[in-house]
Amino acid sequence: MKIGILSRNSKLYSTRRLAEAIVERGHEVKIIDPLLCYMTIASQRPTIHYRGEELTGFDAIIPRIGASITFFGTAVVRQFEMMNVYCINESVAISRSRDKLRSMQLLSRKGIGLPVTGFAHSTKYTKDLISQVGGTPLVVKLLEGTQGIGVVLAETKKAAESVIEAFRGLKAQMLVQEFIKEAGGADLRCFVIGEKVVAAMMRQGADGEFRSNLHRGGKATLVRLTPEERSTAVRSAKIMGLNVAGVDILRSNHGPVVMEVNSSPGLEGIETATGKDVAGQIIQFIEKQAKPGKTRTRGKG
Ligand code: ADP
Ligand code: MG
Repeated sequence: MKIGILSRNSKLYSTRRLAEAIVERGHEVKIIDPLLCYMTIASQRPTIHYRGEELTGFDAIIPRIGASITFFGTAVVRQFEMMNVYCINESVAISRSRDKLRSMQLLSRKGIGLPVTGFAHSTKYTKDLISQVGGTPLVVKLLEGTQGIGVVLAETKKAAESVIEAFRGLKAQMLVQEFIKEAGGADLRCFVIGEKVVAAMMRQGADGEFRSNLHRGGKATLVRLTPEERSTAVRSAKIMGLNVAGVDILRSNHGPVVMEVNSSPGLEGIETATGKDVAGQIIQFIEKQAKPGKTRTRGKG
């Protein structure tokens, strides 16, 4: 097979590991920087050009679209879908997962456990919104943040109001959320491929830090999931329409609650913590699933 990886940086651990796994399993790999792709849309035959040549003959694409390039990156994925190339995660699913509010609405429709979450445009009723989510302490999150940046814990009502007003002053979209104190600064990263959790780790935030992101100094260890956590992760990925997903779960007093579903989950943390060949499993999944034109949306979304 000829498999393309859409990634801005071929030196990143995840990109390297995927490329290695593709070659190891006897396939051909091409790493494509999505920002250097250009497309003709006005013709009958959709095409993508890259560094002066046309991209043809691909059996599958693995999108690794960073949050900062979601808009153009998903357009490139959509173009591959229009060209009938199998994309392991489709453009619509990637866009959904990038919008925290949209993802939470989709998950809640299907009864997935979530932290109580509030959202508002105007700051006129901030006090009421705070009481709607159960008062303080609460978490304020920028809608399009990643790696823990833009996630703030407000211990008091005054602090919560100031943070909300400051974000609004910067014209940022945000949500407010019940603080799951009992999680103790830890969360579960469940790596889903297709209908299975293939690896899982617990991330524990550094001392005095409620955010468990590895980028914020969190430490990862192997963890055994409960059947409920497993099925929550698999169902969440499915609801988002993602074949590959990193589902982040908090252990709350009222069962597992999903914080977010990532469409380009990193491989370094999870492979190191679990010793599993996650990259290889992604390629195996592609070998079984990739067929020309096998996309749910085929660029429609
Ligand atoms: P990001 O997309 O920036 O990673 P998250 O929503 O995943 O944002 O939040 C970052 C971290 O903050 C989580 O991994 C978790 O440890 C902590 N966290 C987020 N929301 C809550 C919450 N409602 N209760 C407790 N901890 C939380
Ligand atoms: Mg996160």
